[in-house]
Amino acid sequence: HCKGQRCSGVQFFTKDMQRRLDARLTMEQGLLRALKREEFVLHFQPQVDLRSGAIIGLEALLRWQSPDLGLVPPMEFIPVAEETKLIVDIGKWVLEKTCATLREWQDAGVPVVRVAVNIAASQFARHDFDTTVEDALGKHGLDPGLLELELTESLSMEDPKGSIALMQRLRAIGINMAIDDFGTGYSNLSYLKRFPVDRLKIDKSFTSGLATNSEDHAIVTAVISLAHSLGLKAIAEGVETEDQLQLLRAEGCDEIQGYYFSKPLPEAAAREMLLKRPCLHC
Ligand code: C2E
Ligand code: MG
Ligand code: MG
Ligand code: MG
Repeated sequence: HCKGQRCSGVQFFTKDMQRRLDARLTMEQGLLRALKREEFVLHFQPQVDLRSGAIIGLEALLRWQSPDLGLVPPMEFIPVAEETKLIVDIGKWVLEKTCATLREWQDAGVPVVRVAVNIAASQFARHDFDTTVEDALGKHGLDPGLLELELTESLSMEDPKGSIALMQRLRAIGINMAIDDFGTGYSNLSYLKRFPVDRLKIDKSFTSGLATNSEDHAIVTAVISLAHSLGLKAIAEGVETEDQLQLLRAEGCDEIQGYYFSKPLPEAAAREMLLKRPCLHC
């Protein structure tokens, strides 16, 4: 593209950067519009107790139902939403929608379970985060025990003391707390013991290697044992096979989440699943 002159590569680099900036701007505008037009939807994936086989929770997972792009998975828009701070409003919507859905289910006589919501770093760092959560619960008259917040270890490490104080306030209300993707972030074990959380979620990158890779197996065993020593529950995410399930059971893992039991389901299908109360052992 430098037409025979010595090519510095500068033009190519600039074009590529411009293309990426354009894409980001398009995405940002799309997300803003999505918020205004209510194009976001939540899917719900069951969490199962390994002992009883019963569904004991759901994780709310965000999707963007875009008129142009179809159903967009979170990994394609959450990073942009985080960079642009749009995640704060999107996260508020997720909390509000989760609480509204729980209210709807309860009113319809659906036997509800706890629902876990993913919280982004910039959302958790807001001084009014606890008020946002309390408002969503209060508006729908919900038992705070029906809500779980999923934080990542890196998020909690950015300001450990502030995070601990905030987690304590939320937990004092009765909200459940989980550390998501455990083992993939930057962790400090001396803080972990002071984090007022209820469960550690074993990242699916470890679960997927569990039956075939001895290092992954060792890590999963260690995380389960660490969780139990700290008085926490261990839940494995991304469980896809019977082999993985049996190994997790043998290692004393408390709960599982993954395609083996169910993919994330749209609201109507999740409601049906709660009404049918399927059991892992039945
Ligand atoms: P995550 O919180 O670790 O959620 C688990 C992801 O693993 C979900 O992907 C889920 O669909 C997928 N998954 C579950 N079981 C299996 C399995 O057996 N095999 C495989 N291969 N995958 C499985 P999803 O829904 O695409 O979400 C990806 C990530 O996006 C989430 O990871 C979370 O970090 C983020 N995310 C989703 N919803 C929200 C939200 O409302 N707010 C924020 N801040 N982040 C969200
Ligand atoms: Mg999660
Ligand atoms: Mg996770
Ligand atoms: Mg994960």
